[in-house]
Amino acid sequence: MNIAIKEHDEARQGEAFAPFVIDSNPYKKFFYIESYGCAMNFADSEVVASILIDNGFAATNNYKQADLIFINTCSIREKAETTVRKRLTEFRQVKKEKPGMLVGVLGCMAERLKAQFLEEEKLVDLVVGPDAYRTLPGLIEEAETGQKAVNVLLSRDETYADIAPIRLNSNGVNAFVSIMRGCNNMCSFCVVPFTRGRERSRDAASIISECKTLFEQGYREVTLLGQNVDSYYQAPASPNPSEGGAYEHPAKEKKISSLQSSTFPPPSGEIEGAVTFALLLEQVALISPLLRVRFSTSHPKDITDDVLHTIAKYENICNYIHLPVQSGSSRVLQMMNRTYSREWYIAKVNRIRELIPDCGISTDMITGFCTETEEEHQESLSLMEYCKYDLAYMYFYSERPGTLAARRFEDDVPLDVKKRRLQEMIDLHRGHSLLAMQKEVGKIRKVLIEGASKKSENDLYGRTDQNKVVVFAKGDLKVGEYTEVFISSCTAGTLIGSVIKNT
Ligand code: SAM
Ligand code: SF4
Repeated sequence: MNIAIKEHDEARQGEAFAPFVIDSNPYKKFFYIESYGCAMNFADSEVVASILIDNGFAATNNYKQADLIFINTCSIREKAETTVRKRLTEFRQVKKEKPGMLVGVLGCMAERLKAQFLEEEKLVDLVVGPDAYRTLPGLIEEAETGQKAVNVLLSRDETYADIAPIRLNSNGVNAFVSIMRGCNNMCSFCVVPFTRGRERSRDAASIISECKTLFEQGYREVTLLGQNVDSYYQAPASPNPSEGGAYEHPAKEKKISSLQSSTFPPPSGEIEGAVTFALLLEQVALISPLLRVRFSTSHPKDITDDVLHTIAKYENICNYIHLPVQSGSSRVLQMMNRTYSREWYIAKVNRIRELIPDCGISTDMITGFCTETEEEHQESLSLMEYCKYDLAYMYFYSERPGTLAARRFEDDVPLDVKKRRLQEMIDLHRGHSLLAMQKEVGKIRKVLIEGASKKSENDLYGRTDQNKVVVFAKGDLKVGEYTEVFISSCTAGTLIGSVIKNT
């Protein structure tokens, strides 16, 4: 059982919407939505569900019953796109039996392929990019007349700030809260800046209000989501949130150039009255000490000392940072346009461990990026040896059409070499993650209870502050409560413990 929040959670791929609360309103039509890719996509599906329900549609988790099937797609690697194409062939059969049924493709693949999708996949009726979900009701009406409907316009200010997401497959304890959209970073391997557009931050008041509501509804953990949360920024003169306020970060260019000259830590360059990520974290943490706060993803160039001090200051901000490195070679990092060097990254990890000694750290790694040599691969392994990550998401490089790398560099590392390097990395990391689990044995950890264990109905599971799954005997404990657990043993993926007391 690995339910840790991660960028690309294999266990959740293709997860369909199962309504948390079934209501008895007379709906006109049923929709089915299935999501792929990162947590942002799963959060977007909750926005889509809200828009559809407001327009008289009801959710179903049985696609054969649906009038509308949506598939919220991911383009990050070729494999993600192949998975979606395969799934579409399964929907083809149902559509034959139910000719009026509409099939819509949402998200990054829709944005990347645009109308080309309609030519390649004849069964698709709607193609809708991540910034166009408000137009779904109109597009559905258009598609119902037999026309193909497409909206892939990207926006500079859409944040869906005023839309209250409908929680999908919720355990009533953890929720994702989107705090920004898009990305300006232009890492050379990455398709996200092209599929999700320019970076923009959501109005802070609407974020706090959503988190407060979640807490009042009984949720006990929020994960603040963005491709690059540390560059969250709200300008001092706040526009009216009801006008859908969105903000770009004015200090960004300044920060990046100071970083390239290798100052450490970078000057914050923030303006009085502005809401930075550190301030936002603090405001969410202050909602209640009983509300745990997590966030993902941090870019090493942007995470500041202010953020680290804020994490250290508040007990309910989890001591866990997902800090993707991508490569251990400074030359490869430069080609990837990550704007930091190996030494810079190591200094950042050291700083995190200095300010938050008990902090869990996870990462993303890519093997076989263009021109990567055997020695540079060894540098990635030695960096992992140094950092000894609690968790790592490792991929071999997959060239994405239109990215900077696809245009500038040759994808010259053979597939078998990429895969062999990936396997070496996975083998190395397995030892590190086991070590991280073993280090927990003998400690007492505060655990937020998230559900019943899949293996035994007499057991519950929850997570520690450092994001590790713990299984323990149920007793009279309930989901959503905190408890102190003595960790007595572990497997590679799970801690096993016994309850000390309720907190
Ligand atoms: N914004 C996050 C960041 O900067 O770390 C991550 C975004 S991306 C959705 C998640 C991960 O996918 C990346 O960190 C990277 O390791 C991986 N990834 C992105 N593009 C890739 C590609 N073309 N081939 C292989 N892996 C890729
Ligand atoms: Fe992609 Fe880089 Fe943006 Fe992450 S920071 S989404 S890897 S461009």
